[in-house]
Amino acid sequence: MSQSSSLLVLHLISDCLVKMIITENPYSGEKLGEYDEEDQGSISSKISRLRHSQLEWARDISTRLDALHEVKARFQARSSELARSITLEMGKPISQAEAEVKKSIWLIDYTIQTAQEMLNPENVKTEARRSYVRFDPLGVVLLIEPWNYPVWQVMRPAVPALAAGNAVVLKHASIVTGTSLLLEEIFGLDVFKSVVARGSAAENIIPMVDSISFTGSGQTGAKIASKAGSELKKCVLELGGSDPFIVLHNTNIESTVAAATDSRLQNAGQVCISAKRFIVHDGVSKEFGERLRDSFARVRIGNPMDPGVYLGPLSSAEQTKIVREQVSKLRDLGEVEELAHGLEGNFIPPTIANPHSEFKEEVFGPVAIVTTFSSDQEALRLANDSPYGLGASLWGNSEHAERLVPYIEAGMVFVNKKVTSDPRLPFGGVKRSGFGRELSRYGILEFTNIKSVWVD
Ligand code: NAD
Repeated sequence: MSQSSSLLVLHLISDCLVKMIITENPYSGEKLGEYDEEDQGSISSKISRLRHSQLEWARDISTRLDALHEVKARFQARSSELARSITLEMGKPISQAEAEVKKSIWLIDYTIQTAQEMLNPENVKTEARRSYVRFDPLGVVLLIEPWNYPVWQVMRPAVPALAAGNAVVLKHASIVTGTSLLLEEIFGLDVFKSVVARGSAAENIIPMVDSISFTGSGQTGAKIASKAGSELKKCVLELGGSDPFIVLHNTNIESTVAAATDSRLQNAGQVCISAKRFIVHDGVSKEFGERLRDSFARVRIGNPMDPGVYLGPLSSAEQTKIVREQVSKLRDLGEVEELAHGLEGNFIPPTIANPHSEFKEEVFGPVAIVTTFSSDQEALRLANDSPYGLGASLWGNSEHAERLVPYIEAGMVFVNKKVTSDPRLPFGGVKRSGFGRELSRYGILEFTNIKSVWVD
């Protein structure tokens, strides 16, 4: 073979390699699946078909809600399979994967119950014979989603967007490609399709759709926003967070520590709204610190398929490397204590860091950063001293805590409860945590053309 033809073969092989997505179990390292990446031509024809199906889907809301009833039944029937797929692909403990699927079914149910009322036209009194606002669909909505809640992250925008009469094209994170395709199968609708593509290819889909909902890191969010901006497409961005967890002097330490443990260690800390910075009144910081250490040390770690395990591995070797590097940076800034030893592979032990200077990165792993304060003003300054503004929680006397709420720079503030997403409340952030809202009436309206009508 001549040198140029062998180079051609090498190119073809490397092209083939580039076009394949391989998924693997982050706990065992076992290969799970191999998927051909779709090229732009195939994605474009898929979107044309979605566009065609959307015209029929947009016609009548009661037909759509009937179809969502069937979707709900299919999710219920296949919930164990879906939970298993989550755990295998990204390592979340099976009990938490089951809870994720259950919550997703709640969202379908809630949407079926409320969408009609949320989308009803609104009469507005003017000099017109009749004037009102209609909420019409936008067309095809592109969802670009991360791996940390492979089902819930998709449902959060997909179910309201569908109920509002849109079609949905999903570009999921590559490491959960199996779950993405399973979702397409369970939705079983002509107006919901997944595409198998790497992140870098997803930007090229933006010109083909009418609106984008992105959940993921700020870095990628900025690229999507800039591409969407250049195409003048509407987008909702749900980005990272470094939520403060403020412990006032008048809190119940026992229940606060239990919530702190759950909020920081659930899903191995890979949660946008998990408490990441613990800002503790110096009158209770000693007791809080000791109890948090005990609580972190008691957590059961191991095979995520074991129903009794609470802390599994991180979702990938890449993610583990990032968090290990962050822990090493935190060591340079102060004391760091690991509360489990001898872990291998993609495990990161529950860790508590007490840096003596600020650390502004989002840590997407089971690492609590603890600092102290002595006045409300100082607590607020520390809480707001972050590029992010997703959620925040306050722990203590509820009247005292509520007085601080207006001064907190976050999209969601919870008092004596960990920050959580709830279909009934808007979800989203300010600052580098993004813009726009998901869930509740505010969320469904993001996927509509708010159309003013004047009739004389
Ligand atoms: P990521 O930004 O790397 O990836 C998210 C998605 O974007 C994936 O589907 C990925 O394939 C795709 N992508 C990557 N590069 C792209 C590009 N150039 N163009 C288009 N798409 C591209 O994020 P991640 O590491 O998968 O997820 C973790 C981040 O997500 C954390 O910062 C976390 O806080 C954030 N997050 C936010 C929320 C929220 O609701 N605010 C929820 C979950 C996770």
